[in-house]
Amino acid sequence: MAQKKSRSVSLTVSQAAPTPAAEGEVWYAEGLRFNCSQCGNCCSGGPGYVWISTYDMDRIAAYLKMDFDTFTRTYVRRIGNRFSLLEKFNYDCTFLKRENGKSMCMVYPVRPTQCRTWPFWDENLKSPQHWENSAAKCPGMCDADGKKFELAEIERRRSDTASPHE
Ligand code: SF4
Ligand code: SF4
Repeated sequence: MAQKKSRSVSLTVSQAAPTPAAEGEVWYAEGLRFNCSQCGNCCSGGPGYVWISTYDMDRIAAYLKMDFDTFTRTYVRRIGNRFSLLEKFNYDCTFLKRENGKSMCMVYPVRPTQCRTWPFWDENLKSPQHWENSAAKCPGMCDADGKKFELAEIERRRSDTASPHE
């Protein structure tokens, strides 16, 4: 979900090159708990980028029942040789909807890979301290009752490159 930019919790932070992890060799070998509280921190804040690949664009356009060109004209901006979702005037992601104190992603089932793989990013998994640093702004990362993600699932998300974070 990543950051963008300089958001409080950024979904677009740069990532180090993936390093294969074998069970027992990483600090999170026993799994990690995470449960999104829908606070919206990672989808709002200051200006930033929600990187989106053509794979993501195809899926979201189909979900919204839009043709590809109309979708990209409406929701996507070009940044150099990459693409990002547009932001609203207040820097909220274009797909962030606020209702009854909750923040919802309007394209949640097909949200960009960088959003889907949060918080299991290399930069958060470098050490417990890195995880805690990000958890300070992402309550879902410090929910002791959150869903337990086993090592294999963490690694699967960490190495998902369908939509690179950087
Ligand atoms: S709990 Fe974390 S992942 Fe969920 S909306 Fe808040 S900052 Fe984003
Ligand atoms: S696409 Fe959805 S999950 Fe990703 S930043 Fe936008 S509102 Fe948040």
